[in-house]
Amino acid sequence: MRAAVITRIDSPWELRDVPDPTPGPGQVVLRMHASGMCFSDVLVHHGLWPVPLPIVAGHEPVGEIVALGPGVTRLRVGDRVGVSWLQKGEGRCTECQSGRPLHCADGQTWMNLGGGNAEYMLAWEAGCTLLPAALSYQDAAVAFCAGFTTMSGLRRGNPRPGDRVAVLGVGGLGHMAVQLSAALGLETLAITSSPDKAKYAKQLGATDAVLAGDDPGKALADAGGADIVLTTTTSAEQVNQVLSGLRYGGRLVTVGITGPLHFDDTTTLLFKQCSIKGATHDNRGDLVEVLDLMAAGKVTPRIETYPLTQVNSVRDRVEAGLVRYRAIVELD
Ligand SMILES: [Zn+2]
Ligand SMILES: [Zn+2]
Repeated sequence: MRAAVITRIDSPWELRDVPDPTPGPGQVVLRMHASGMCFSDVLVHHGLWPVPLPIVAGHEPVGEIVALGPGVTRLRVGDRVGVSWLQKGEGRCTECQSGRPLHCADGQTWMNLGGGNAEYMLAWEAGCTLLPAALSYQDAAVAFCAGFTTMSGLRRGNPRPGDRVAVLGVGGLGHMAVQLSAALGLETLAITSSPDKAKYAKQLGATDAVLAGDDPGKALADAGGADIVLTTTTSAEQVNQVLSGLRYGGRLVTVGITGPLHFDDTTTLLFKQCSIKGATHDNRGDLVEVLDLMAAGKVTPRIETYPLTQVNSVRDRVEAGLVRYRAIVELD
């Protein structure tokens, strides 16, 4: 099969012919249809997210099951599925026993079996989630990191009826976050540095959008503040600043931070009794909720599609912030 193989840090991913995968016990093989590109792939490319090399990246993979390993009982050949970042835990630790395999010290991810930037992909049966029939492969791919991450972040903010949610950053994750928050019936404000993204956020269902300017916290406070701020930007400085826009009892949830975080506004933190949380893919139910909202037409990702042969230029576009709003590698 053809695969985009990462052989060295900071070097172009190599399009190579490699042996077709064979499923072991508990594993399946997907014929890939689409593979989303995420900013964390850029981090992998630069060695900022250590992975064993050589490896095939791609953690928003969707396709059709074409082979079942021994002992697979839940999936069938022909099923349309996507594969989560964390596919399974070892099953016996406290986290696994508590139903939180994401936190298992010995969890299996795309870094163990390889990801979706290839014609076929090996996955654990436990890591596969069925796709609703109404959903295209290209759109469904976006659910598996961008959608899953932001829905988990939103849920960890404990939204209540009447709450106002501010989404900081309108990119691959943020454009999903705005739609998911609006689809849950929450008043949703987008904060972005870009006038064209502010306009687009309103088309996505944001009640309003404000420009971050030099201080997204001040911009948010001036716009009335928020009960939940979901930050999808990679900028630690913006996350530090936006805290000042929280209302009393507000929750700041960050899902995309890449640098060291500090908070200057201890007055807001202490006297408004705010909390700061990190979040990532959590319950499988968050992912299924995203897929269902997408299948119902309430959330639709905006995507750019490219063939596997352009995988390097796609990654460069992601790094340069040029993608509107998620790049998908098509494999069929
Ligand atoms: Zn991702
Ligand atoms: Zn475990």
